[in-house]
Amino acid sequence: EVELRRISKMYEQQKVVNEVSAVIEPGEFFVLVGPSGCGKSTTLRMIAGLEEISGGDLLIGGKQMNHTPPSGRNISMVFQNYALYPHLTVKENILFGLQVRKVNKQEQIKRLNQVAEMLGIAHLLQRKPRELSGGQRQRVALGRAIVSQHPICLMDEPLSNLDAKLRGHMRTEIRRLQQELGITMIYVTHDQVEAMTMGDRMMVLRDGEVQQVGRPLDVYNHPANLFVAEFTGAPP
Ligand code: ATP
Ligand code: MG
Repeated sequence: EVELRRISKMYEQQKVVNEVSAVIEPGEFFVLVGPSGCGKSTTLRMIAGLEEISGGDLLIGGKQMNHTPPSGRNISMVFQNYALYPHLTVKENILFGLQVRKVNKQEQIKRLNQVAEMLGIAHLLQRKPRELSGGQRQRVALGRAIVSQHPICLMDEPLSNLDAKLRGHMRTEIRRLQQELGITMIYVTHDQVEAMTMGDRMMVLRDGEVQQVGRPLDVYNHPANLFVAEFTGAPP
């Protein structure tokens, strides 16, 4: 499990994440949702170890991880812009992390073939990222996260560059993969439809503060305040 104990982030004098707490269960799909600037990415980056935690504690599997480097956290991450290496092929992009970790060649190829099959990108392995469509790049980024076989995956608005149709398709795909592989997912979006349709639970943030945590339907039917009601689009 991933536990946030009143974690905060200060930039200069400003608190952009303010004592956020949550316990995310193994295998859960947990969505962080809220308007632009509310602190979603900052929270995710603190969990990933890409941003220093100003206050509070992060626990993964019961261990305090505040100062553990990203590589020690057993986490993979998918970013909004995919962050693929432009000079590497799809295959090289997917295997990059395994090569760094010196996973043996046979195992690398086995996992590569598995995810390529799973994501329908087997025919793209020799291409460079610039020779792919947005949706194909997205799949490669997912593939790279999946081959790592980390039990926890963080995603920051991974679908925001895609058109509406593909976005709908990829929502289903990500959810399916997450369930199939039993991954713990922490998924950031500003899109309430995504939060409502994908999450086992969602956390609504506003100005760095938690407004409500719960199952999407419960949040929708019983919003904690006017902000949540308006944000989820619940009728008054
Ligand atoms: P979006 O939906 O637009 O991605 P977000 O919820 O992910 O928004 P964050 O990126 O976490 O928001 O930013 C939260 C707040 O922290 C914003 O007010 C932002 O301007 C501020 N912020 C983020 N990074 C820094 C930084 N490096 N220095 C100073 N302020 C920052
Ligand atoms: Mg963000």
